Amino acid sequence: MEEDRYIGLRHNMVKHQIAARGIKDPRVLEAMSRVPRHIFVPAGLSDRAYDDSPLPIGEGQTISQPYMVAWMSALLEIGGNDRVLEVGTGSGYQAAVLCELAAEVISIEKYPDLAREAEGRLRSLAYRNFKIYVGDGTLGWPEKAPYDGIIVTAGAPSVPQPLLEQLAEGGRLVIPVGPSGMQMLNVIRRKGSEYLASEEGTCVFVPLVGKFGWRRGRAF
Ligand code: SAM
Repeated sequence: MEEDRYIGLRHNMVKHQIAARGIKDPRVLEAMSRVPRHIFVPAGLSDRAYDDSPLPIGEGQTISQPYMVAWMSALLEIGGNDRVLEVGTGSGYQAAVLCELAAEVISIEKYPDLAREAEGRLRSLAYRNFKIYVGDGTLGWPEKAPYDGIIVTAGAPSVPQPLLEQLAEGGRLVIPVGPSGMQMLNVIRRKGSEYLASEEGTCVFVPLVGKFGWRRGRAF
């Protein structure tokens, strides 16, 4: 059966691309084993949904590599009661993984068509603990702040100040920062009025375009 084939591919993805590279958080591994990634890629690319790579999703954007989704999810250290903000809904795949891990997920996407399609996929999979908004995610989503975790799935030139302000006490911000070719994945943890940053490794993302991101035309 077709679905059996995808289950096998997903199992191999988690084992060889994620666990083998050092992601140990059992909740993240379990979430990655459950979310059907083939639902989140364009129909013509379903056969490549479990490949070890990002894939195009339209509007010049991508669904991130599975390992990157797992790595960023683990760095967020999400608890089951946490509220999480995602900037860059894209296909909705990372949002689905977050829905498995958190109590509530708010996700913001710049392109209305991508937001609408992602919402449809998440609803079809019976996720109910999310809201997707269309807008400039570099501003965060102050109406629902503060957030225990904020994940930015596009490359920023610098850390947007509104996102720091919308972190809850003890909250974590996971964000790729740097120039077009390669960024550094940063984790910033709020401790009272202090923000403690660590650099976790390099990555390559499409640009975060917005008021506190790249400007149109100056993007990568
Ligand atoms: N998380 C997505 C997934 O699971 O498919 C992948 C995200 S893709 C690498 C980056 C996304 O960020 C794109 O969909 C892009 O349109 C979006 N984006 C870029 N700048 C944005 C902004 N200022 N606000 C919201 N979304 C933005």
